[in-house]
Amino acid sequence: MLDTCPQCGYSLQGLPEDHACPECGLRYDRDSEVYKYVNPKALFLGLVGFIGGTGVLVNMVSTFGNISSFWRACMIVSVVVYFGMAAWFGRYVYRLYRSEPLVAVLPEGLYVRLLRIHGDRIAWTDVSRVAFSRAQKVATLIFLDGRPVLDICGVFASLSDAQRFVSQVAARIETSKKLPV
Ligand SMILES: [Zn+2]
Repeated sequence: MLDTCPQCGYSLQGLPEDHACPECGLRYDRDSEVYKYVNPKALFLGLVGFIGGTGVLVNMVSTFGNISSFWRACMIVSVVVYFGMAAWFGRYVYRLYRSEPLVAVLPEGLYVRLLRIHGDRIAWTDVSRVAFSRAQKVATLIFLDGRPVLDICGVFASLSDAQRFVSQVAARIETSKKLPV
């Protein structure tokens, strides 16, 4: 069961289990599941780095009255560069949260949004099978029409997540083969 639409972010709370998103029409059912993973450790370290860096900067700026004009100029430049970098990082984090990488297992196919793929729908009827690499937590889709395989990784928080994804995908592919065309 989905809380929000993986394609447009619309809240699906209170809607039937088997339905389509009222906003964008993406179909889902009770077995639909979204896989996404943002490493909280990396964000935490980024935040700690920013607070620490700001502390050092404040300390440095407090000596502003006692140093030569050359060092004052250097200080101003480094403050500007520092906040520029912090703004860039903040924007990166914001974008990651707004359009974070995810895959959604849906009745008609997969909805995929990875770093190089911006919101692509893949129909089950186009997929031949799914392979799985345990060691790297990579699920690989093999297509019927001979297009290159698609590796799905970076969205699984754990090995069991990745295994659940692969078994759901395999079941959906099986079901799609049994349906009359
Ligand atoms: Zn939607």
